[in-house]
Formats: sequence, structure tokens, C-alpha cells
Amino acid sequence: MTNESPALYVVPTPIGHLGDITLRAIDLLRQVPWVAAEDTRHSGPMLRDLGCRARLLAANQHNADSAAQQIIGKLRDGESVALVVDAGTPGISDPGARLVARVRAAGFRVVPLPGACAAIAALSAAGVDDAHFLFYGFLPAKAGPRDALLRELAVLPYALVFYEAPHRIVDTVAALLVVCGAQRTIVLARELTKLFETIHSCSLGEMPDWLAADTNRQRGEFVVIVSGATAGVDEQEGRRVLKLLLDDGLPPSQACRLAQAITGVGKNALYRQALDWRSKQ
Ligand code: SAM
Repeated sequence: MTNESPALYVVPTPIGHLGDITLRAIDLLRQVPWVAAEDTRHSGPMLRDLGCRARLLAANQHNADSAAQQIIGKLRDGESVALVVDAGTPGISDPGARLVARVRAAGFRVVPLPGACAAIAALSAAGVDDAHFLFYGFLPAKAGPRDALLRELAVLPYALVFYEAPHRIVDTVAALLVVCGAQRTIVLARELTKLFETIHSCSLGEMPDWLAADTNRQRGEFVVIVSGATAGVDEQEGRRVLKLLLDDGLPPSQACRLAQAITGVGKNALYRQALDWRSKQ
């Protein structure tokens, strides 16, 4: 924190493991006179444990406008404010972005501190090797809008990154399977940095069974990553050709090799598809 001019500091907090707050964040939270928190009851104890004696003000999706006015008022009085959300980096699928937009529009400095973010933690360990990713965050809750959106996203050559709640994870995986097909890779990153952290990667065709095999796998907080559509390759055509070859009696390895040569779709993906079909016979 500098003495130059008041600022809104955007401060990431842990997504589970309390050790994941940065030294700079602790230092700053001890210096600012005000902390705007998504849920003051949630963040209060953690802030006290860190030695932060700032006064708290609530800034959430229900009071975003009045909270922004309060924050701007403090900044006008020359007092800096730190913004925290319940977990992770403010502005990533939470009310942080709206507050920041208003503070910037009022002409005040906004200073980001880098730190914990569930999407980035998941991507760093997912091993999905697409060159690019598209962070979407939460999908629409209703099946119709969700599936329409998924159809738009499914053709993009980028890994897709979603946040998902436990009560929707089974449905969302089922919808992804229908729209993206069985052979794309999916990674479920669950309870990151916590006791029951699980990072599981398999084909989309395999994921429903993996989830169903143990209901504990459906609990907690999730980041869902799906590998991107393969650029220049028609996966549907790959599946169609593979099916023809298998129906003609070719052994899977030969059918996959030929389907790859004909359509360009990756052999591993085709092989996973062949196994998936066989398991359903
Ligand atoms: N701003 C936060 C960030 O930087 O990641 C995200 C806030 S959003 C309201 C909360 C969602 O993030 C959860 O529903 C879940 O999808 C994801 N999430 C948060 N913590 C997580 C964790 N420890 N493991 C997996 N996903 C997590």
C-alpha cells in the first residue's frame, strides 16, 4: 500500500487452504482502514486471525449499488478499501466485478493483488493441453438455456472451464456428454486445496459412471474442464466412419487406425469411443 492516493485493493483470499493467502495480501489487510466483504460473517473470523483490525462493510450482489456508493465515499474521504469475496479472487464469477466497475467509473484507483482462484488452480493441474481456454463460470441453471449455450461453446477450439455446484454436477456432465460427444476429455477438479481434493480426468463418455460409482464424488465445489473441439477436424464424422468400420466387423484397433487416417480425429479419442460403445452393448 502506498501513501499516494486512496485505492480499492482487490484482494484474493483462500479457496480452502488457509495457507494460500499471500504475504502481500496479509500486509495490506493489516493496513487498510476498511474491508468490503461479500459476507462479513464469513470473512470476519479469517480477517481477525490475520491481525486485520479494519472495519467491515458488506458488499454483495444484493446491495452492490449502495455498497459501491459506500466504498466511493470512503475513497473520497481519503481512506483505502480492500475488497474480498467469500473465496478466491474478487471479480471471478462473484459480485466483485460490479463493484470494481463503479469504483473505476468514479475515477478511483483499483489495485489488483494476484492470488488464489479456483479456475486457475484447476487448469494448472488438469493437464489439458489445449493452447487456449475459455473461462465461462456458472452455466444457466435451466436445462434449455444451458444446452443452447453448450451447443455454441462446444464447437470452439478452446478448453472450456466451468464452475458448478454439487447438486447440478451429474446433470451438467450428462448435458456436456450429449453436446460434446463421448471422446472429449473432461477433468473434474473438486474441493481444491481441501481435505478431499480430487482431480479426475477421463473421456466424457466415462465420466457419468465414475461419478455414479461413489456419491462422495458428487459432493463439494467443482471446476469442470472440457478439452476443446479439435480444430479442422470433424469429430462427428470421425464417429460416423468408426461406427461403419466396426459394424463391418473390423477389430477396434484397425477400425480406429483407419478412421483416424480418413477423418483426422485422434486415435485415442476414437478408441475411447469404441470402448464406450462396446460397454453399452
Ligand atoms: N472468485 C472465486 C474464484 O476466484 O475462484 C469463485 C467464486 S464462485 C462464487 C464459487 C465457485 O468457484 C464454486 O461454486 C466452485 O465452482 C468454484 N470453487 C471455489 N472454490 C473451489 C474449490 N476449493 N474447489 C473447486 N472449485 C471451487
